[in-house]
Amino acid sequence: MEATIDYRIARRRMVEEQLVTRGITDERLLDAFLNVPRHLFIDPALARRAYDDCSFPIGYDQTISQPFTIAFMIQALEVGPDDRVLEIGTGSGYQSAILSLLAREVYSIERITPLARKAEDALRQVTTGRIRLKVGDGSKGWRGYAPFDRIIVSAASSDRPKTLLSQLTPEGKLIAPISGSSEYIMLFTRKNGRFVKRRLKRCAFVPLKGGVD
Ligand code: SAH
Repeated sequence: MEATIDYRIARRRMVEEQLVTRGITDERLLDAFLNVPRHLFIDPALARRAYDDCSFPIGYDQTISQPFTIAFMIQALEVGPDDRVLEIGTGSGYQSAILSLLAREVYSIERITPLARKAEDALRQVTTGRIRLKVGDGSKGWRGYAPFDRIIVSAASSDRPKTLLSQLTPEGKLIAPISGSSEYIMLFTRKNGRFVKRRLKRCAFVPLKGGVD
């Protein structure tokens, strides 16, 4: 019981000190961060530090993203309550939980089978909206459920994500880290059949890989 109260305080502090002060203003998004228990998505040995201002290893050379990075990307993506969202790189499942509280439905793809299983277990323990998970190569998207209003990619690719862009609705948006000589979070907005590309900020993500482990 005591631990639960501590975590709630830690979440409030995370929201105020890491998100609000850095320009996250979307109330629905801040509410989602207040409600999702991040400590259930990481190794129990690290749970006490779950609300720190950093990413953490989640095994298999992967990481759960820093809270601010997740908030920054979702705020820029402007996820609405009627949106169907595709997430590439489920990882811990934490971001899937946040997204599911903002959107109508979340479809999330992870290429590492044991990570996907762990995410599924963690997501079962918390209150979420509708989430559909699958193991696979997310760079191919999820054709059976396309098109999506919003797509968020949590691993960096070196190219424009052409296949994913083709699975957006006519007014859709996609956000992804794109690596070149430097790595940037890029926002692609579809307008009149064309894509407007905006470079938002420097970043460092794990690489987007093909195939399934
Ligand atoms: N938002 C997640 C981030 C996880 S890290 C979180 O906060 O937990 C990025 C994830 O993308 C890793 O789990 C990695 O295995 C996965 N990934 C990398 N390439 C992928 C691909 N082609 N398809 C699906 N998932 C991929």
